[in-house]
Amino acid sequence: MGGQPMFILSDDSERTRGEDAQSSNIEGGKAVSESVRTTLGPKGMDKMLVSDSGDVVITNDGATILGEMDIEHPAAQMIVEVSETQEDEVGDGTTTAAVLTGQLLAKAENLLDDDVHPTTIVEGYHEAAELAHEAVDEIVVDETVDDDVLRNVAETSMTGKGTGDVGAEALAETIVEGIRRVENDGVAREDITVRTQTGASSSATELVEGVISEEEPVREDMPATVEDASIAVLDVEFDIRESNVDAEYDVGSVEDLNAAIDAEESQFEQYADALADLDVDVAFVTESVDDRAAAHLADEGVLAFESVDDDEAKAITQATGASRVGAIDDLEADDLGNAERVSVESFADDDLVFVEGGAAAESVTVFARGGTDHVTDELERALHDGLDVVTAALDAGGVVPGGGASEVAIAAYIRDHAASIEGRRQLAVEAFADATDVLPRTLAENTGMDPIDALVELRSRHDSEGRAGIISESQTGTVTDPVEAGVFDPAAVKHEAIESATEAATMIVRIDDVISADN
Ligand code: ADP
Ligand code: MG
Repeated sequence: MGGQPMFILSDDSERTRGEDAQSSNIEGGKAVSESVRTTLGPKGMDKMLVSDSGDVVITNDGATILGEMDIEHPAAQMIVEVSETQEDEVGDGTTTAAVLTGQLLAKAENLLDDDVHPTTIVEGYHEAAELAHEAVDEIVVDETVDDDVLRNVAETSMTGKGTGDVGAEALAETIVEGIRRVENDGVAREDITVRTQTGASSSATELVEGVISEEEPVREDMPATVEDASIAVLDVEFDIRESNVDAEYDVGSVEDLNAAIDAEESQFEQYADALADLDVDVAFVTESVDDRAAAHLADEGVLAFESVDDDEAKAITQATGASRVGAIDDLEADDLGNAERVSVESFADDDLVFVEGGAAAESVTVFARGGTDHVTDELERALHDGLDVVTAALDAGGVVPGGGASEVAIAAYIRDHAASIEGRRQLAVEAFADATDVLPRTLAENTGMDPIDALVELRSRHDSEGRAGIISESQTGTVTDPVEAGVFDPAAVKHEAIESATEAATMIVRIDDVISADN
């Protein structure tokens, strides 16, 4: 080929290369991680996020904050993904993972300035991450976690979140009770759900043994409460198809019209009779119910719900043992489910139906209350964190001391092993340990302690006693043993944070060319 330059990019695309690309990516990543740093830990502050349309979200949850932010920078977007992965995999530690990623990038930037090659940094970080995983395994506190520890884990994950006036302690109790109900050779996490309802103080939050769905009875004169209920779940339209009517009746006179109406009426009656014959007390119908059919159902004392959505129908069949049936004629006694109690309760705007004591499965629902939507929303996020960490602690490798103690131990472990690592990679391994320090440092800072003094004290207490964390009591933080203070995180949360932060940081460091199409 001759001297002609070859153009493979359109004129509109932008290209940044080499150190410019690297530093722009690193700065973007650091900026995003910095934005959630102040929310870390029990004394972390909340963020108020306002969308274009004026919707407001107030939260302390890292994944929620990053998810709501409108982030365009591609490398910054990767930090958002780190927190999403963390949320999906273990349900907690999203701020931790984002802050660690940012600090790994900051330390990498220093190394790049000192002419350490990106590949060396990547190798060193991976090696350090291996050591960090080993360190986490070493500090696992108690492989068989009892209820006290579980309550502590739940509480640790919720402190700092605005839980209204209920307090993390009471919520933790509810969470552990709920998880124990659905535990049977592993936690069936999908059998425990959270349902929120605004309009009462959050201290009214309670555990309901069953499912709650947002449905109102098709008629007000149906029974509001049924004990020992036989339950049908029907994918049936309680109506008469117009085409049938047209085909069967040629309405030419008043008599004909009356006959047609009678025939329809008797069809509606048959629906109700069919249910009554099988002693059905409650019918969840996924399609619509005609008013006249509803009247007959009410006459038979059947409590019926229409247009029940698919997920709710599924949850009800699972809890009660009912099978979904697609035609009234096919309904048999075998298809019916059972629950100790089905009751309808009215709240400000909504009716909720409680299906409790289902015969088939131990589904439970945490019924979360709060004075305002903002409170219930944040309470719901806190409950999900609590449920997830208790599940992780039971099913995925136990718990480690919280309050930054794990990170102090991880950094110490890495530094111990770094000396034996050859060449410049050693610098990267040490940089990883230094990056890990950001977590205890930030916890100290957010509790109003001097971060440098705190770190010095943490290290010396760690060396002498093997364990030291920042524990925030009422006003300030102190350096204490987190195990004595009952502050624990699941080991799985730490493993996941190390994994995803390392992956994202090394990916960003490796990029030396950014080509963006302009469109
Ligand atoms: P993340 O999104 O990473 O879970 P959090 O804001 O929930 O962020 O903070 C988690 C950190 O706070 C963990 O390191 C945990 O051990 C620590 N932590 C939680 N409760 C306490 C407490 N009472 N005292 C000290 N540290 C705590
Ligand atoms: Mg948390």
